[in-house]
Amino acid sequence: MQALERNPFAQRRGQSAHHVAQRRRFCDQTRNRRQHVHWISRKHGCRPISIIRGLNTLSHGLTWIDLRFHGRSQVIAAALAHDRGGAAIIDPGPTSCLATLDLGLQAHGVRWADVRHILLTHVHLDHAGATGTIVRQHPHISVLVHERGARHMAEPSRLIESATRIYGDRMDEYWGEFAAVPAANLTSLRGGEKIAAGGRLFDVAYTPGHASHHVSYFDESSGVAFVGDTAGVCINSGYVLPPTPPPDIDLESWQESVDRILDWSPSTIMLTHFGPVTSVPPHLAALTENLQTTAAIALKLLNAPGSDEQRAAAFAAELRQVLRGHMTEGEVQTYVVAAAYEHLFSGLARYWRKKGAAP
Ligand SMILES: [Zn+2]
Repeated sequence: MQALERNPFAQRRGQSAHHVAQRRRFCDQTRNRRQHVHWISRKHGCRPISIIRGLNTLSHGLTWIDLRFHGRSQVIAAALAHDRGGAAIIDPGPTSCLATLDLGLQAHGVRWADVRHILLTHVHLDHAGATGTIVRQHPHISVLVHERGARHMAEPSRLIESATRIYGDRMDEYWGEFAAVPAANLTSLRGGEKIAAGGRLFDVAYTPGHASHHVSYFDESSGVAFVGDTAGVCINSGYVLPPTPPPDIDLESWQESVDRILDWSPSTIMLTHFGPVTSVPPHLAALTENLQTTAAIALKLLNAPGSDEQRAAAFAAELRQVLRGHMTEGEVQTYVVAAAYEHLFSGLARYWRKKGAAP
């Protein structure tokens, strides 16, 4: 009897076999589209009450979407601001996740015609990859990006080239297309602007350190700051990992960016990897501390014998060990997907060599 009650497709009193089959088919179709619909039984069957797992509210009209990067949750999030006057997406993610973004918009009742702006924190593939593809389909959308990133969005060949050096054959499967954005759709930012988008006013701050063209956005009305990768990677309130891929890592300017974010006194910071954080000052203090720690590990390895390949492997092993002290093995793996450890070494190595601190 218990088993029967747990079965959502069990035929209930007053329901025909046809009705049950129809419900099962609809549920299957929905699951196939990877919508996370919760069903409730009503007198005459079941209906979706809401796309619960897709509705991650930060504040009224301010939400985020788990893009389920390659089927894995809690790796990449896109944020959405919307009201009756239109919508804005903050970091739409890569083209390989576009179908999930599309479903996320639908879940929030947002049509692409409502989306007026895409606000980019920076141009890396996991944040901005889908932008050109979206704009080709919806040419009314304006794209805002730091002036140093704008040229890469208009002419992404160098960006694609350097990513291909890292990802090789897996490039397309991993990220999908990175299409150019027409110059007419691009608005360059420097930091210090106020942007009206998605029914609210965002302050823009220049926040380099992870990338030399990184900006963050703050919505004062809700107290939420969208900080891209400037506040690190943090999954399930775990270890705050500083993402340090090449080529722009700069510890000093990163610290200034952290201070700039703190100056806003945000009640929430929204991380692309992954999700909202409300204990803002302790989180940023942990980021600073962990940035010093990982940079020191890289520096120690750089001044020890070995090839860079060996050093990167040793760095990854040491970092894995640090993470294992804070989380489960499954979570360690999610961190690997969000920030490949070997690349983190390369970024720090480049930083130390530029400073002349390592051979
Ligand atoms: Zn990222």
